[in-house]
Amino acid sequence: MYHPYLKEEHNMFRSSLRKFLQKEAYPHYEQWERDRLVPRSFWEKMGMQGFLCPDVDEQYGGSGADWGFSVIINEELERVGSGLIGVGLHNDIVVPYITEYGTDEQKKRWLPSCTKGNMISAIAMTEPGTGSDLAGIKTTAKLNGDHYIVNGQKTFITNGIHCDLVIVACKTDTGAVPAHKGISLIAIERGTEGFSRGRKLEKVGLHCQDTAELIFEDCKVPVQNLIGEEGKGFQYLMKKLQQERLVVAIAAQVSSEHMFSLAMDYIKKREAFGKSISQFQHIQFKMAEMATDIEMGRAFLDGLISEHIHGKEVVVKVSMAKFKLTEMSRKIAAECMQLHGGYGYMEEYEIARRYRDVPVASIYAGTNEIMKVIIAKNLGL
Ligand SMILES: Cc1cc2nc3c(=O)[nH]c(=O)nc-3n(C[C@H](O)[C@H](O)[C@H](O)COP(=O)(O)OP(=O)(O)OC[C@H]3O[C@@H](n4cnc5c(N)ncnc54)[C@H](O)[C@@H]3O)c2cc1C
Repeated sequence: MYHPYLKEEHNMFRSSLRKFLQKEAYPHYEQWERDRLVPRSFWEKMGMQGFLCPDVDEQYGGSGADWGFSVIINEELERVGSGLIGVGLHNDIVVPYITEYGTDEQKKRWLPSCTKGNMISAIAMTEPGTGSDLAGIKTTAKLNGDHYIVNGQKTFITNGIHCDLVIVACKTDTGAVPAHKGISLIAIERGTEGFSRGRKLEKVGLHCQDTAELIFEDCKVPVQNLIGEEGKGFQYLMKKLQQERLVVAIAAQVSSEHMFSLAMDYIKKREAFGKSISQFQHIQFKMAEMATDIEMGRAFLDGLISEHIHGKEVVVKVSMAKFKLTEMSRKIAAECMQLHGGYGYMEEYEIARRYRDVPVASIYAGTNEIMKVIIAKNLGL
């Protein structure tokens, strides 16, 4: 596979990661799905090999690597299974809030453990009553001396069970106009008084990913845990959502490529009416249509990743990629399942799991409808 932004050292990194995953992830993945959890030992092994947060500065335990290495990690984990999305969330979504907006003291306190895999992170924005409309969150953080007192409930939180550090979007100013100016980000550690976990949620797919509710009841958090400045949380979230959505787009592209290859193998082996089903024109056309979508998706995505690595602001194009590539993977999942006939509906065939896992990407990291709102706004509408 050729990516314009990757060099020889990236390819070597990919081979060693693949070798690692062949031993530490592929053979265990189905069991993790049954357990509804990826064990912490996998995180620690990833950390030990330098596969967590490679872009973190060396002084805080990372390798100071460029984002091309993170792209490889996201791609290779998606090939194992979409249930490993929590690792990408930790590496490329949560930890970057600390690296960009954290104080030196916060970086020293948290980053080394995040890179080792013995501190798993999460981000908690969504609440039972609000998701897309982030400005409508109800969780509050009231300053009381040298602590914030946090009250509220969050739901659908990726890494919710494992997380040792969660960045919580809270209202520090409930009277702010507009409301989003009252949002701040506060990091809350495992064991903090008043912080508990609610249910581990049963999902349609992503079975090994621990998605959970988090509860904060008079939760006493030191003021030193504020990330960046008070009232700037919404601004930070909007800025960092670019990378979050890019990670989701990468996963959607890779899963489409993977499902296509599963279908290709199957149609070549399966026979009907005395010949390989790959010889029916209908099936050839389906494969041709999917190959075209995948090729176009890859070209757009690769260009976008390059721009992102070069620090360009690509918020609108990322929204386009997130929306288009996740729709593509949903369509490809359905087509590839159909090409497998009845076997496609059986759990022992990987396409069945992929079919369950894919649709949620249109929902999280901002729904596809919200992506269209962003695109339309940029069109001046
Ligand atoms: C598996 C999973 C993992 C998740 N992980 C996390 C996490 O780690 N952290 C976190 O904070 N959240 C997480 N989420 C939550 C996710 O980001 C939200 O579910 C999502 O943002 C949508 O919010 P909602 O569910 O409240 O839907 P709503 O906002 O209630 O939307 C319902 C429907 O209305 C549509 N809609 C809403 N507003 C508009 C509009 N203006 N125009 C057109 N249509 C609109 C939506 O697109 C959707 O179709 C996760 C969700 C899932 C399912």
